Formats: sequence, structure tokens, C-alpha cells
Amino acid sequence: MDYKMRRLSKRQNLKRFTPLRTVILYALISGAWILFSDHLLIEQNPWLVLQLSIAKGWLYVAVMSVLLYILVQRGYNSLRQAEKSLQKDQEYLDCYITERKNAGVMDWSEKERAQVTLDSIGDAVITTDVQGNVEYLNPSAEALTGWTNTEAAGLSLEKIFQLVNEETNEPINYPIVRCFQEGCSVGLPNQAVLMHRNGTTIAIEESTAPIRDRTDVVIGGVLVFHDVSDKRNLMKEMAHQAHHDALTGLPNRLLFNEHLNQALALAGCKRGKLAVLFLDLDRFKLINDTMGHSLGDLLLKVVAERIRETLRKGDTLARQGGDEFLILLSEIYHEREAVMVSERILGVFSQPLMLDGNEVYISTSIGISLYPTDGSDLETLVKQADTAMYYAKEQGRNNYQFFTAGLNIKANQRLSTENSLRKALARGEFVLHYQPQVDIESGCIVGLEALIRWNSAEQGIVAPLSFIPIAEETGLIVPIGEWVLRTACAQNKAWQEQGYPHLSMAVNISARQFREPNFIKLVAEILKEIGMDPQWLELEITESIAMQNGEASVEMLNVFKELGIRISIDDFGTGFSSLNYLRRMPIDTLKIDQSFIRDISTGKNGEEVVTAIIQLAKNLRLKVIAEGVETNSQWSFLKTKQCNEMQGFLFSKAVSSEEMELLFVRPLNK
Ligand code: C2E
Ligand code: MG
Ligand code: MG
Repeated sequence: MDYKMRRLSKRQNLKRFTPLRTVILYALISGAWILFSDHLLIEQNPWLVLQLSIAKGWLYVAVMSVLLYILVQRGYNSLRQAEKSLQKDQEYLDCYITERKNAGVMDWSEKERAQVTLDSIGDAVITTDVQGNVEYLNPSAEALTGWTNTEAAGLSLEKIFQLVNEETNEPINYPIVRCFQEGCSVGLPNQAVLMHRNGTTIAIEESTAPIRDRTDVVIGGVLVFHDVSDKRNLMKEMAHQAHHDALTGLPNRLLFNEHLNQALALAGCKRGKLAVLFLDLDRFKLINDTMGHSLGDLLLKVVAERIRETLRKGDTLARQGGDEFLILLSEIYHEREAVMVSERILGVFSQPLMLDGNEVYISTSIGISLYPTDGSDLETLVKQADTAMYYAKEQGRNNYQFFTAGLNIKANQRLSTENSLRKALARGEFVLHYQPQVDIESGCIVGLEALIRWNSAEQGIVAPLSFIPIAEETGLIVPIGEWVLRTACAQNKAWQEQGYPHLSMAVNISARQFREPNFIKLVAEILKEIGMDPQWLELEITESIAMQNGEASVEMLNVFKELGIRISIDDFGTGFSSLNYLRRMPIDTLKIDQSFIRDISTGKNGEEVVTAIIQLAKNLRLKVIAEGVETNSQWSFLKTKQCNEMQGFLFSKAVSSEEMELLFVRPLNK
């Protein structure tokens, strides 16, 4: 430490000896020396003078040496310092050069890295000069455009990046180069797709950016894009699903509404006409429930295809839901066109459908409304066509009807009937009448058929055909039918207990009831509850109920048979029966429909049909009953053909239970 301090103070001492100070010091010492030394020498002896002169010489040399040392030392120090600073500069320079060198290496590696990235990324990249001439395409861009980097270099961007309208294939002018120049970004129009060099099109998403130099001047542009076909297809698929029915592939109600609104706007401008057709398949629910839903679905698909084939290209066929279809006939000149289409549709239904090897007959009812006569907006036109369709159903199904103002009144009546029926059930306004079934030979009552009547407070006694179809459509037939079964069985049991003859009681069963999952259980419970012997109950089902989904019906009827319940086929001859099923089903009775009995002796071949049915029943060992016998000649004819029993106004119409009791005790009026 001491050493260091000493060195430091020494250096500071040296610094005090600036050249000027040194010279002044030298001048002062030399002057003093000249003034005083010779004076000293004169006054002393020669030896002393010599000695002093030597000493003076040495002193001078010593002083000069010190001064010289100081001067040389200073110079040396300056030199060292200069050298040191030079060295520092050199180091700094070296460092700077190294840094620059490194910087140079980095530049090169970034370029390389960018190139590798561009070559390997999934996005397609094209760079151009400011005029839009292609400079570079990465491999993805090569794949999407079909141009190689070398082929495309120098070509204008529009040449290799051609956009066309997806629907029309018309070229689309897209201002990419302007975007580069102005630094803006313009999104592609929706239908724009990229045309590959081979003519195929690819849906893309793109973005553009200008390339600027150090002075912020645009010197080119970069276009980045990628294939979005999958995404676009998915979106299209989703849009399609939102507007189409999944089962049939037809437009759904939403798309139909769009088409109808467009057609209405067009018809409004051109003062044109259009028609809306509302189709509902007849008895589809029965097929669906008895044959199974998968076959029901298949039927809807086949039907949709058949209807579509009858329409013009510009018409719209849509599935409204369930078994309902809507048709828009746009730009028609006369309502006759709607008639023609409807007849064509009914025509295609006249042929049976083959579903999984099953022959199925189905028909449709069509309601038609016209623009502008029946309405000027979507809702009204569809509603009026719907109303007309209901009217077509009422008219016996398998036909078409135009909307009329009167139908609206009917539709309202229908709605009020539905409401009234609900109340009627709750208020107990239904009654059962009974019609005797008599032995053809003896004319004695051998059975009864229970027939429902509605004793309405407003309308009086209402016949079943006025309300049973509505009850079936609304499902009210299920509780009503249960009431009928219970009441008929209870009445039969009561008569038996009161000592009246034991007779079979026939009860009509609707399709809806027959399809109820717990129907067998319900019948068994009612019999048990009432304590009635099952042999006195006869269930009447129509041919169509029995034949639709034949296998399931066979099974169900077998259960009834095991319970001891009798089965009869009502209105036989009006539907389609498979002889195979007739043979296999545990049926007891065939009831010849009254329309054939009516045709006896009228020259309409009624005799032949009735004879054939009786013969068939006999061959199948079934009892046969003729319905609707009104005349003695009909009775005589049936007797000659050995029909077993009959039922009709000739003997008695359906009567109340009190009147029936009178019939039990006095002979029938025959
Ligand atoms: P259906 O089962 O074929 O009943 C026979 C129909 O023919 C009865 O009409 C009866 O009154 C009528 N009839 C009987 N003899 C003659 C005749 O000599 N001449 C004429 N012109 N008609 C005759 P109704 O009572 O009006 O019943 C009509 C249909 O309503 C029945 O036809 C049946 O299908 C249905 N129906 C009646 N009651 C019920 C019921 O409780 N439940 C169900 N699901 N349907 C019922
Ligand atoms: Mg009947
Ligand atoms: Mg009948």
C-alpha cells in the first residue's frame, strides 16, 4: 500500500515539472550558480578552487541529469499513454469488426431460415414486384396454382392466380396488386375460388401485405393463401342440413318458405299466379306403427322420389314433417296446371310400393291453394292448402281439392268438434246403441253389435261417422274406445244376469286402439273387472288393420284367441286382404261390407262378389255375416248362398239398450 502511495505521490511530483517550469528552474539554478560559484572560487586557494570547480561541474551534471530525467520521463509516459490508447482503439476496432462480422453471419442465417420456412409451411406464398410480376412461389403455392417457381417467375400475378365465381365459373377481378401498392387488404367475395392450372377449382382464404424498403416505399407484395375446401364443404353441408330434411333429402319447411317468398315477390311484380299443394299420406300412421318405423322411413323416401318425378324442374317439393309434403308450383298460367300435377301424383300412388319385399298400397290426399285468389302471403296460402287437404280426406281420401272460402268454416267446425268431443267424454254424452245380428235361417237374434252415438246437447244424436274420424286423428278414440268396450261388456253381462239370452257382443276397434301397446292387457282387465266370459266378446277389426304388418297382427290375434275372445273382419271386401294371412289369422267371422249387399239384384255384379266372399269364408271355415240387409230379396239371395248371419234395417236398426230389451222378448219385425 505504502509502495503504491509513494508511487502515486512520485507521479504527482513529476507532473509538477512541466517543461516551462523545468526550464525556469534550470535558468534560476544556472544563474545563481554563475553569480555565486565563481565569486566563491576567487576568494579561496587554488586547490579548493579546483575542487570546487570539479564539484561545480558534478553539480551541474547532476542537476542537468535530474532535469533530463524529468523531461525524458515525461516524454516516455506520453508515449506509453499514446500507445495504450492506440491499443484500446485497436481492441475496439477489432471488437467492432467482429460484431459486424457476426452481424453479417446472422443476416445470412435468417435468410436461410426464412427460405426453409417458406418451403415447408402449409400456407401458399407468392411474392411479386410492385407491378405484380411474380418473383417467388413456395412449394404450397406451386401445388395450389399448378405453376412451378421457374415457370411463374416474371409472369403477372393474375396469370397464375386466377379467381373464378364458383357457381358461374366467370372470372373474378380481384385487385391484389392495388392492395400491395396501397397497403390495403380486400377480402375475397364469397363465391370466389382459385382456378388451378388444370382447370379444377379450390376454395381458398387469402391475405395480402405490401413489402417496403428502408424508406417505407412499397417495392412489392406478398400473397398468402391456403386451401379451405374442407372447411367450405363442411359449411355447405351444415347449410344444406339446415335447409333440407335428413330422411328424404328434400328441402325442409324453411327452404320451402324461402322459395315461396321469392316466388310471391316475382308473381307480385309480374302479376303472375302460383299454386301451393299440401299433401298428406293416407293412413301413414297405421303403416308406420304396424310395419315398423324403419319401413315407414323407407316408404317416405320412396314416396318423396315418386312425387319428385312428377314435378317440373322449377317446382319445389318439400317435406313439411311426418307424412306431410308441400309443393310449390311457381309461375303457373291456369289452375288446370295444379290439377294436372295433382292427378299425376295420385296416378303414381295407384301402383303398389315395394318396400323390403313387401307390397304396400298407399294413397295421398292433396289440398290446393292459389295465389292471388286464396291468399297473398306465405302463411295464408299454406294454411288454406292444409284446410283443402283436410277436405280431401273427408271426401274419402286419395283425391285433391281446391281451397274454397266455405272450407274455412268447415275447418273451424272440425276444431270445435274436437273440443266438444273432449267435453262429451268428460260429461258422459256418449251412448251405445245395439244392432241385432240374426241367424239367416231362423231369423233369431244370435249376436249384437255395439255402435256408438253422441248425444250432444247442441246437435242431438250424432252418428259415429261424423266424429269417429276426428277422434281417430286426435287420439281421443283411445279413451272413447275404452269406454265403449267397458260399457258394451258391462251391458252384455247385465243382460245375461237379467236372464236374457247369452249373445256375443261385437265391438268395433279402431286402428289407433289396436296399435296401443297395452291394448291386450286392457281388454283382459275389462273382462276380468266385469266378470264376463270372453267367449261372448267379439272384436271387429277392418281388413286394413289386420293386414298391415300382418305378422304382428297374427301374433296379437293369437293372444286374443288364447284368451277366448272372438275376432271378426269388418267391411270385408273394401280393403286388401292377403289370402295367406287370412288363412293364418285366428279369425272367426267375415262381415261382408254393406256396399256389396246393396248391389245384389241391381245388375252391378253384387251377387257374384257376395257369392265369392261366402265361398271364401266357407273354404276358410269362417262364419260369414252380411251387413246392411234391407230387403227381402237380399235376404233370400243370402239364404240360397248359405250365408250364416245377417244384420240390417230389414230386422232392426241399431237401438238403445231399453229398446233392445223389448226386441229380446218379442220377435223381430221381419
Ligand atoms: P260398421 O261397424 O260397419 O257398422 C255398421 C254400420 O252400418 C252402422 O252404422 C249401422 O247403423 C249401419 N247399418 C246397419 N244396417 C244397415 C242397413 O241395413 N242399411 C244401412 N244403410 N246401414 C246399416 P253406424 O252406426 O253409423 O256406424 C258406422 C261406422 O262407425 C261403423 O261401421 C263403425 O265402423 C263405426 N263405429 C260405430 N261405432 C263405433 C265404435 O264404438 N268404435 C269404433 N271404433 N267405430 C265405431
Ligand atoms: Mg262393425
Ligand atoms: Mg261394417
